[in-house]
Amino acid sequence: MKMLRFIVLVMATSLVLSAAGLRKAGRLMATPAAAWIAEGQNVEQLLRGFSSIHPVDVHAHVFDKDNTAFFTMLKSLDLHVVDILVAGDDPGLWSEFATPAYVDRYSKGLDPLRADAFAVVRSSGGRAVLCTTFDPYKFRDPEFAERAIEQLNKDFAGGAVAVKIWKNLGMEIRKADGSFLMPDDPILEPIYNDIEKHHRTLIAHLAEPDVCWQPPDPNNPELSYFRENPRWYMYLHPDYPSKKAILTARDHILERNPKLRFVGAHMGSMESDVDQIAERLDKYPNFAVETGDRLYELMSQPREKVMAFLIKYQDRVLYGTDLILPRGAKKGALDRFRTTYARDWGLFATDETVELEGRKFRGLKLPESVLRKLFHDNALKWVPGVIRTDSASNNKS
Ligand SMILES: [Zn+2]
Repeated sequence: MKMLRFIVLVMATSLVLSAAGLRKAGRLMATPAAAWIAEGQNVEQLLRGFSSIHPVDVHAHVFDKDNTAFFTMLKSLDLHVVDILVAGDDPGLWSEFATPAYVDRYSKGLDPLRADAFAVVRSSGGRAVLCTTFDPYKFRDPEFAERAIEQLNKDFAGGAVAVKIWKNLGMEIRKADGSFLMPDDPILEPIYNDIEKHHRTLIAHLAEPDVCWQPPDPNNPELSYFRENPRWYMYLHPDYPSKKAILTARDHILERNPKLRFVGAHMGSMESDVDQIAERLDKYPNFAVETGDRLYELMSQPREKVMAFLIKYQDRVLYGTDLILPRGAKKGALDRFRTTYARDWGLFATDETVELEGRKFRGLKLPESVLRKLFHDNALKWVPGVIRTDSASNNKS
């Protein structure tokens, strides 16, 4: 029996809607309280600094094409975002997240999602671009790769700048013999070739933070997501591929496709060890990483070491958040965006104390030239088209 499948736009982890508005459900969304932030500074002040650098958030999930307040906010912050489409399979997670009507729409496959995502792009006044995807659950179809490529090429023609692959490769989808469909499976190779041929970027969220494979440590604030989503808690599935096996498969893609621009989402899932990231960046010139929702792990490493890493690899790290804007979001959702951007700016641009997951960190106060690359230049370089300079931003699809 085939389980009812939900193709959903999700981030790696989830937010749920509660009566009180948005609350944190996962390890994911760092949730700065409204009052928080960098000591001695306020949100508006920090956002002024953030805006002044023409920031780009390369990792967001925007569902609501009708939220004009959101697009106004993007404009007022002079912010551009990459809206990432994800093909997931997670009814439990999704039904928590959204209304039944929402789930119903997204149980019909990737097409309604894609249409909605393009509508978001059109509503954004040039502030959002699409990172599209394909449906890997269909990998057994005889014409899987051809069909996926055909659709991706339509999306590229419609303005999509990148393609996302997700952790279901290596952690969920199985082949007939019970083995896992790994991200470097030859069946996916023609798709990677096509992305490269069209000069688009592959954005990959593969594997998860280390805590996903470790026994539960109640003191680890990152554990809650895996507690609430046992299907993704690999510690409970010792027969599944190891983190190392998944990252090795990821590295095979980099090796086999040296001209494919490849951005590892969530610090390439090596968030707790900048040395590991550095090793890959040295080895694969086509590899960059994105910060989305991994600042706690990054900052938990020695401050000087993190600073040295970000300065040495200043051309290879992109700023992203993994923030999500659900349909019908309440006003609190925009506060989350604003406070997250302000907090992150405080963390990278000041040496004030900033709170993440209840723990205090001293900001890195990176040189301005490095900040400019992190928040702007690298996005343009690694995800060309992210800021559209032509009239094609009013694309049709
Ligand atoms: Zn995401």
